[in-house]
Amino acid sequence: MEKQLKVFFLSPEAVPFAKTGGLGDVAGSLPPALRRLGVDVRVVLPFYSTAKESGAEMRPVCEALKAPLGGSLLTARVWEAKAAENTPFYLIEREDLFARPNLYGTPSGDYYDNLERFSFFSHAALRLAEELPFPPDLIHCHDWQTGLVPALVRGPYRHRSRVGKARTIFTIHNLGYQGIFPPDKLPVTGLPAHDYFRIDGLEYWGNISLLKSGIVYADVITTVSPTYAREIQTDSYGLGMDGILRERKSSLFGILNGVDYGIWDPGRDAHLPAKYSIRRMAGKRECKKALIRETGLTPSLLDRPLLGVISRLDAQKGIDLLVAALPDILALNVGVVVLGSGDASLQEALRKAARAHAGRVSLNIGFNDPLAHRIMGGTDLFVIPSRYEPCGLTQMYALRYGTVPVVRATGGLDDTIEPFRRDSGEGNGFKFTPYQPRALLAAVREAVDLFDDAKTWKKLQSNGMKADFSWDRSARSYLELYRSALKPAQAG
Ligand code: ADP
Repeated sequence: MEKQLKVFFLSPEAVPFAKTGGLGDVAGSLPPALRRLGVDVRVVLPFYSTAKESGAEMRPVCEALKAPLGGSLLTARVWEAKAAENTPFYLIEREDLFARPNLYGTPSGDYYDNLERFSFFSHAALRLAEELPFPPDLIHCHDWQTGLVPALVRGPYRHRSRVGKARTIFTIHNLGYQGIFPPDKLPVTGLPAHDYFRIDGLEYWGNISLLKSGIVYADVITTVSPTYAREIQTDSYGLGMDGILRERKSSLFGILNGVDYGIWDPGRDAHLPAKYSIRRMAGKRECKKALIRETGLTPSLLDRPLLGVISRLDAQKGIDLLVAALPDILALNVGVVVLGSGDASLQEALRKAARAHAGRVSLNIGFNDPLAHRIMGGTDLFVIPSRYEPCGLTQMYALRYGTVPVVRATGGLDDTIEPFRRDSGEGNGFKFTPYQPRALLAAVREAVDLFDDAKTWKKLQSNGMKADFSWDRSARSYLELYRSALKPAQAG
């Protein structure tokens, strides 16, 4: 019998304890899916204020975990919560670092001490593995906040019996967040400068980059879709990291994220005013009616296409394209519901557009999970005009909700959405490529034209609703990768 794999899964966020975007969903759902495949995976994340609001039951597993932050040794309490499949989630509690209203910063900028916060988190997680004890075969790190860990395992922790032999995997959920800090802060990380602050280390144009640290020092690198794995090796999408990614090309893999259909399924979704499924679609019209009422849109929109947008408000997400195309889109006699939070100037641009089209555009600023579900259920089209999109989850949610995606052909959007073809009846959405308002408009127009053909529209909806993007498929790919990551170690 094969030995059970032990995986320590380090993430800056995980549902239901903390979420700012897709990584939260991934870290909440992939570990239970891996446990179903027999992997002993345990998750570690910081204990933010939001974890208290989750209502999850927790018990302390370590009252005084000691971990360094620069020259000081700090103490943290560690809580354990059990999620689906009995998956342990360990939350590192240190009030002065993590008990804040937001995870990484406010709309006006990042917290000034993010290097301190996530260096401490990285050391604390490794110390926790020793303390539990849980000697992992693999340490799976996510995004820049944990990018220090592969360097620590190769360096200061390499002689430690519990974690020194572990292989490291670094998953890039978004190359746009690079964890850049000034060079004089290097002592915070606990890494000696001469070995690490170098061009073939974590030095990046004179600064520290924790993302680069993960890319350089991890044994295996993954990202969240096959297309994004290719794109980030190019000048146009590499955001300055393409050279180093090309160097590590043979260790770089793209695995598509999955959907937790326990949370995102219109047949079971407790947030929806009416449930529905492929065979019983009447509930979707009820959801649309209720959403129009809730958002104050013109009631006559019930028989016209209603477009949904749920997004972080960030330059990455193509919100500028949406704002530019909005007057022409509205001229097609449609309605638009937007839910988003983030960048203040994008909020303002949206506010202006919404004011000009009262009754036709509903703008909802804030992070609101129940409303996100109601928008999925109550709209006909779901628009994602991203400049780049590592994977994107909302287009996969939209498919399951019979809400037809209109997306820009990039990253995971390109991997999951196939343009609908009237002649063959194949395809699940609409795609455009040039990053231009009129390309977005053309794709929306194509969708709107099809909307009046009820029979064909139903076929398009059911193509999407039938698709299976469940986590089980992605988890099997990760398991295969884990096994192959361990092979050289065993051979050696
Ligand atoms: P990203 O991780 O880049 O933000 P994804 O599509 O991978 O994009 O994941 C976004 C997740 O965050 C989805 O679950 C989406 O529903 C959710 N989300 C984004 N913005 C909001 C918001 N303002 N309110 C509620 N949920 C949101």
